[in-house]
Amino acid sequence: TKWTSNNVRKAFLDFFCQKNNHQFVKSSSVIPGRNQGTYFTNAGMNQFKPIFLGTVHETSDLYKYDRVANSQKCVRVGGKHNDLEDVGRDYTHHTFFEMLGSWSFGDYFKKEACSMALDLLLNVYNLPLDRLYFTYFGGCKELGLQPDLDCREIWINLGVPECNVLPFGMKDNFWDMGDTGPCGPCTEIHYDHIGNRNASHLVNTDHPDVIEIWNLVFMQYNRLGADKLLLLPNTHVDTGMGLERICAVLNNTRSNYNTDLFLPLFHSIQKETGVREYNDSIGNEDINGIDTAYRVISDHTRMSTICIADSLLPGRLDLGYKLRYVIYRALYQCHHILKAKPGLLGKLVDPVCESLGEAYPEVIANADKVKEVLNTTEERYLKFMKDGERNFDKMISKIADIKSLTETDIQRLHDGYYGNPMSTDMIEILANKYNLSIDSVEMEKFTSHQISTVTDNKEDIKYPSFTPDLLNTLTSMNIGPTNDVDKYNYSKSS
Ligand code: ATP
Ligand code: MG
Ligand code: MG
Ligand code: MG
Repeated sequence: TKWTSNNVRKAFLDFFCQKNNHQFVKSSSVIPGRNQGTYFTNAGMNQFKPIFLGTVHETSDLYKYDRVANSQKCVRVGGKHNDLEDVGRDYTHHTFFEMLGSWSFGDYFKKEACSMALDLLLNVYNLPLDRLYFTYFGGCKELGLQPDLDCREIWINLGVPECNVLPFGMKDNFWDMGDTGPCGPCTEIHYDHIGNRNASHLVNTDHPDVIEIWNLVFMQYNRLGADKLLLLPNTHVDTGMGLERICAVLNNTRSNYNTDLFLPLFHSIQKETGVREYNDSIGNEDINGIDTAYRVISDHTRMSTICIADSLLPGRLDLGYKLRYVIYRALYQCHHILKAKPGLLGKLVDPVCESLGEAYPEVIANADKVKEVLNTTEERYLKFMKDGERNFDKMISKIADIKSLTETDIQRLHDGYYGNPMSTDMIEILANKYNLSIDSVEMEKFTSHQISTVTDNKEDIKYPSFTPDLLNTLTSMNIGPTNDVDKYNYSKSS
């Protein structure tokens, strides 16, 4: 098999759905549904939360299945799992990624889950066992949780050498979706890109040679607070494997970016801007930041495309604000690092559709809208960037030796003390450009004194609206405007 991303995804789903009797369930939207929280969907399990908690409605389709598999669109910006700052700096964390998932709802438990995972990796993906490391939960005294020795024994009985089965604590081997909600001890599978050595000391160290690929969570608790765990009515299995990472592994590369999910975007960036080609050697110094720009722009465009196709719009509040910040960050790289002409992000939407459209047709259905939203956001960015630069120049001329922004500086920029009111995302982006640091405590102090993240007092931008047809399609695919944020943006646009 040629391990294109589409083949990797399909092999996973065939393995669970055809060979092991799992029901395929479509990816849910990355925008949470009504009463499902205020963060982006950060894992495959989010849509199944009511099943774990035992609150699923009997008429729900989900009630029928006890084995399920899918590939879930995930976004990790904000919330407990926030990977935004890692993007561009490493080769394995994205703001948007796909999680290949399998579940047992009160059906099989640890032994079958581990044995299926190993079967897939060794006999479908044909990975050598000696490259794989297995972690299990080492217990937590404070919470009175025992080490998961059953899990250790299961791996050893499946033929894994004892020295490759390693215990870790709460941080790595106890999975929670957030501050509250379903959780449990987990066992993870890590892959050594190098081989012919014992690499157990590199597991869970963020070393680019040894990466986590698959997490198998044994859902047993509902977290009610920092140290409050309640047993769930039943035990479940919840697994998630990063598609981009397993694609990289199967294509013999240490970088997720070196796969067909990103390379076509890199190609378009190169063609559109004429900058030098992407240099994929890991650890290269990237003095002008060109390679980082390639990574950030591609990652952020995928994230924005997915979010907009799921009916979110960049805006001033909540998830819309996070989306806008991500787009602004990408635009910063386009204009200030690559010196691109306006329109680059919009041009990357087609290659995103090429690679994701087969799995997520909503991306293709909304491609034109995504391009328009990205281009309109870019016009707005360029305008505010100019205003913002004037503010920063003025501020710097007034405050001698300014190195970092205090709460007062942020407040003044925000309120238009230097001429133009500024949004916090723009302040962060310009601070970066002017080499001024922002203490996160100072930013926190500022935002906590704000009633909301409402920013510029200029009239909000007009986005193209959803056509009734499109809205119908979105709704029938269960990805129409669902929560208040969405409704807010939707009504703004219509
Ligand atoms: P890491 O330790 O590498 O940050 P994680 O432990 O936070 O990953 P999990 O919550 O266990 O990740 O998610 C399950 C799987 O999803 C991971 O094993 C990994 O393959 C993938 N994954 C997690 N976060 C990302 C991301 N930001 N980008 C791409 N893949 C990811
Ligand atoms: Mg993480
Ligand atoms: Mg981890
Ligand atoms: Mg993990």
